[in-house]
Amino acid sequence: MYDLAIIGGGPGGLTAGIYSGRARLKTTVIDKGLPGGQMQNTLEIENYPGYKVITGPQLSELMYEHMLEFGAEWRQAEAVGVDLSDRIKTVTLNDGSSVNARALIIATGAQPRKLNVPGELEFAGRGVSYCATCDGAFFRNKEVVVVGGGDSAVEEGVFLTRFASQVTIIHRRDQLRAAPILQERAFANPKIRVIWNTVAEEIIGEAKVSKVKIRNVNTGVVSDLDAEGVFIYIGYLPNTEFLQGTGLLNPNGYVETDSTMATKVPGVYAIGDVRAAALRQIVTAAGDGALAAMSVYHFLESW
Ligand code: NAP
Repeated sequence: MYDLAIIGGGPGGLTAGIYSGRARLKTTVIDKGLPGGQMQNTLEIENYPGYKVITGPQLSELMYEHMLEFGAEWRQAEAVGVDLSDRIKTVTLNDGSSVNARALIIATGAQPRKLNVPGELEFAGRGVSYCATCDGAFFRNKEVVVVGGGDSAVEEGVFLTRFASQVTIIHRRDQLRAAPILQERAFANPKIRVIWNTVAEEIIGEAKVSKVKIRNVNTGVVSDLDAEGVFIYIGYLPNTEFLQGTGLLNPNGYVETDSTMATKVPGVYAIGDVRAAALRQIVTAAGDGALAAMSVYHFLESW
């Protein structure tokens, strides 16, 4: 029996683990993957205060070691369900075992949204990717397409110019959503071009991707674009499948909380990308984690 079970070990979960360990709460952090979550797929982080530049895996490792130092435990397993009906909460794991805790923090983050066009699933791992850091190097001197217009699309598009001969960003509007500093970098990079008002309709190839069928949303004109890689960055979906039926989710599938990170179920909190919030950054996930752990501490004082 734990004081606190944290589901998800990204920057939010690891920070909550640091704070709850310091508060001497018996804590377990449950994650199906490596510590750090999506940070593991980010080559360079340049907006985490104190580090002008640090790699995602390095920051993950530092946060993980920091958490272990204060006594929180790490458990590698996937949470497949929760029972929130009793005072003691139960998390069911994919190995059939379960974890009991007096409080829960949900920190399961989000995963890349799919385009849902023909060819996307078929060519996953054969030209279609959601992670430039993982797969960019396979596209040395090749032409690649990036779909999307947010921070991820533009930042990863610039990263891909290290390898690719040309990076074509396809965006459905005539204006990028990405932060101005990222846009400046993209527009200054001779290897990047943007095709505006355009969507990807199909990913085409034989053994591997060779073309993307694109459509101009204003004119309706359809054409084929040569590309060996297609990187899809059109936002994220919260990892909340295991919370269906709990009443914690809003219509978009995010967990609703108040400003103390509390959900509507007493003793259950949510932080980071899985939470309905205006900003999704490493630093905001970490801030959420600190706040939630302290909220748990106060909740357990009168348990
Ligand atoms: P995002 O901000 O939600 O942007 C998604 C982009 O994809 C938008 O440009 C959107 O177009 C487009 N899009 C959505 N659905 C589409 C579809 N079906 N077909 C074509 N295009 C579609 O997602 P993100 O860029 O992955 O960023 C997620 C969060 O992480 C954001 O809060 C972002 O600020 C943050 N982030 C920050 C950094 C950083 O600070 N360096 C880096 C990466 C991510 P519209 O513009 O028309 O909506």
